[in-house]
Amino acid sequence: MIRLSNIQLPLDHNTTALENSILSMLEISAEQLVSFNVFRRGYDARKKTNIMLIYTLDIETTCDQDLLIKFADHQQVKITPDLNYHPVAQAPATLTERPIIIGFGPCGLLAALVLAQMGYKPIVLERGKEVRERTKDTFGFWRKKILNTESNVQFGEGGAGTFSDGKLYSQVKDPKQYSRKVLNEFVAAGAPDEILYVSKPHIGTFKLVAMVEKMRAQIIELGGEIRFSARVDDLHIEDGQVTGVTLANGERIHSKHIAVAIGHSARDTFEMLHNKGIYIEAKPFSVGFRIEHEQSSVDKARFGPNAGNEILGAADYKLVHHCKNGRSVYSFCMCPGGTVVAATSEENRVVTNGMSQYSRNERNANSAIVVGIDPSDYPGGPLAGIEFQRKLESHAFVMGGSNYDAPAQTVGAFLKGETPKALGRVIPSFKPGIKLTDLSDALPDFCIEAIREAIPAFNKKVKGFAFEDALMTGVETRTSAPINIKRDAKSLESINTKGLYPAGEGAGYAGGIMSAAIDGIKIAEAMALSINEKVK
Ligand code: FAD
Repeated sequence: MIRLSNIQLPLDHNTTALENSILSMLEISAEQLVSFNVFRRGYDARKKTNIMLIYTLDIETTCDQDLLIKFADHQQVKITPDLNYHPVAQAPATLTERPIIIGFGPCGLLAALVLAQMGYKPIVLERGKEVRERTKDTFGFWRKKILNTESNVQFGEGGAGTFSDGKLYSQVKDPKQYSRKVLNEFVAAGAPDEILYVSKPHIGTFKLVAMVEKMRAQIIELGGEIRFSARVDDLHIEDGQVTGVTLANGERIHSKHIAVAIGHSARDTFEMLHNKGIYIEAKPFSVGFRIEHEQSSVDKARFGPNAGNEILGAADYKLVHHCKNGRSVYSFCMCPGGTVVAATSEENRVVTNGMSQYSRNERNANSAIVVGIDPSDYPGGPLAGIEFQRKLESHAFVMGGSNYDAPAQTVGAFLKGETPKALGRVIPSFKPGIKLTDLSDALPDFCIEAIREAIPAFNKKVKGFAFEDALMTGVETRTSAPINIKRDAKSLESINTKGLYPAGEGAGYAGGIMSAAIDGIKIAEAMALSINEKVK
């Protein structure tokens, strides 16, 4: 097949325009074109009155080879890469050892699925509950302020991204096309087909819940085992080789191949790993606030007269500003038409994040506006970043009224350094609730200074960003793990513990659903190859 890229057509192009573009670009007749499908569809909205759709197409013709020769020097015409997933191993007939996956977020899910598909019958240990029970606990916290520290936004089947916007794009390098494998598995589990071709696919919370259940069923059908409410509290290591785990209920499970895919909020488990001597380093992350605007104002700023167009959907944005004090401020995890959610997994702490449904039709747009920080801001060893996060989250809890409401401030008041007297046009979506206050005390001074400088700069890119009624809610501290569990670049094992595979966001190898899922596939392959090597 032939891949044609960068085909630009107007937003309102008719149904035959794509085919006509192919014929004229390749200089072939309609009879020579056998079929085509859209590999990717994005848009260029730099000119709001002339928004263009940009297509990448995969095409089959009666003369593929001739065309590839004819257009050999043409940047837009290439051979379609192999998008099929090819398993790297098959489990031996007599499997003497089953790999363990700790954590059932996107990383653990894909690791377990791929291992199961290759015949390794993995055992998954997940501290939280299965997704329907977890949904009740999570929504219970948002509605009634009753937090279950083992079953919440961060912990439970599906991991941290289950109650999310379900954005699936990532900027990681992916030469082996693992992201295609992830998308295909998601579609097979019920995700909409369009995630295969839109340039910024997203799924939304309720679809994610159903998909996770289907993927779990497939793993079990293939001989895998998934245990919920199974928190790993201890790791056994003999002569630098991991040999098993102990669960919170005291049960011991033996394996010499264990993946640690525990996400960025498993602070107790990070401490356990550190105490066991697993090599960990402190790593940079970011802190800030969630900002909310009316979605209609973001649509207008981004799409002008085309705001509301069905193909474009609810508008997003991506913003960066480099500040005079040397810090960078950027927008993160933007959720068009979504809500701001309470994302703590620990008592008496307040953490914000964002989610939306597939329809993205809530009143507000939200995103985190965060400042990059690094270990020099929180000196004190590998786990010092966790204490830094905890301090900010505890302080936010007190600022919000010590009842899980979050502290919030209108942008107008924030820029002036005043406590707002009342809300304006932007109605807060955060549940359980917010308390209007002065946020300048919620983060270190250098962060506040940087965000105050960035908001007017962002207003130049997205008109209305500095609207005085826009609302900021805090604090956003769980942007990524504050640690890196170092692993060997080739074997993917911990650099000082054989058989232990640090993986996903919690170990510092992913930042989002897609990159965590891709890392899960890599880990599964490394574990499978190592198991086979030992059987020889
Ligand atoms: P996680 O998903 O965090 O999964 C780790 C799992 O390990 C958890 O289920 C946890 O319960 C379990 N665990 C932890 N410790 C133990 C233990 N000791 N024993 C057993 N189990 C344990 N990313 C995007 O790309 N797009 C988005 O739209 C998006 N929105 C988000 C919205 C919210 C509200 C949140 C919280 C996150 C969002 N993210 C989003 C980030 C994304 O969810 C994470 O990057 C991703 O889930 C990381 O995957 P993971 O598998 O590495 O870890």
